[in-house]
Amino acid sequence: MISETAVRTIKGYTKEENIHLQEPMSQHTTFRVGGPADCLIEICDKEELKKICKFLGMTGIPFFVMGNGSNLLVSDQGYRGVILKIQTGMNEIRVEGTRLIAQAGATMAQAARAAMEHGLTGLEFASGIPGTVGGGVVMNAGAYDGDMSQVVKNVEVLSPEGEFWNLDNETMEFGYRTSSIKGQAYVVTEVEFALAEGNPAQIKAVMDGLAAKRREKQPLEFPSAGSTFKRPEGHFAGKLIMDAGLRGFSVGGAQVSEKHCGFLINTQPGTTTAGDIMTLIRHVQNIVKDTFDVTLEPEVIFLGDF
Ligand SMILES: Cc1cc2nc3c(=O)[nH]c(=O)nc-3n(C[C@H](O)[C@H](O)[C@H](O)COP(=O)(O)OP(=O)(O)OC[C@H]3O[C@@H](n4cnc5c(N)ncnc54)[C@H](O)[C@@H]3O)c2cc1C
Repeated sequence: MISETAVRTIKGYTKEENIHLQEPMSQHTTFRVGGPADCLIEICDKEELKKICKFLGMTGIPFFVMGNGSNLLVSDQGYRGVILKIQTGMNEIRVEGTRLIAQAGATMAQAARAAMEHGLTGLEFASGIPGTVGGGVVMNAGAYDGDMSQVVKNVEVLSPEGEFWNLDNETMEFGYRTSSIKGQAYVVTEVEFALAEGNPAQIKAVMDGLAAKRREKQPLEFPSAGSTFKRPEGHFAGKLIMDAGLRGFSVGGAQVSEKHCGFLINTQPGTTTAGDIMTLIRHVQNIVKDTFDVTLEPEVIFLGDF
């Protein structure tokens, strides 16, 4: 539990309306599950972020940085500490020539749309990924043969030492759904993309085509965190899960999607628990391991005690 004194100090760094105590994480994650965080702060400015991180570091209060919560499973007990949410308060985008610079809280859809409006190609793949630019670079989000590693030039981060650093593409060490700063105490504040000149109508047509593919293949009508598991080398997670006979298998309101077995979905928002989803994840992992001797590694990030 965060002390009243700590809350009072934080109120000196940001507006009171940005501070939420006992905040249900089900309202901040696309899975629509998760218990209360002791405190959730919506970050609106990077200097404010710096002061808050310094204070939390000095006092030893645990904290976790999130974007849109589209790759998070938060436990039913919630999170004991402070969640720093970098989203709508820090979502400005500017374009300079063929460079697009987005604050970490801009969504990938907003960045892709801005690129399209300025006749810049390269971000079409990201238009349907429901996360922020900050979450996207940390995860090296990708789809349809594109990923962040192909377009990111520089990433501005707040370092654990409390300084703003610029990390270039090489330093980010992008890999499949990972980067050098994943799980580390770096906070992404801004991302610079190097794009190329293109035709807005053609860019829009590509984005519309990808959106149609998503609607056709993915269970977008249910809360989820997208593909629950990473693609195991030489396989597709969804196909393994389907071939193991798990299509539609459920635990409480958590279900292996019938439309796309790689998605575990929440069919009963408000009733389904994070525990149901975790039990289903483990069951799927066990059955796929027993059936095909393949280990499914979660892509989804777990927060709190399970
Ligand atoms: C319907 C659906 C479809 C999806 N499709 C795809 C897809 O095609 N491809 C794909 O790659 N993913 C996909 N995802 C998963 C998800 O959208 C991505 O992983 C996305 O990059 C997560 O971004 P986020 O802002 O929601 O991050 P969060 O879920 O909030 O956080 C994810 C991780 O990033 C870290 N993080 C977030 N913001 C910051 C920051 N500013 N600084 C430091 N660390 C930060 C968090 O600490 C956490 O470790 C999908 C999800 C859904 C629900």
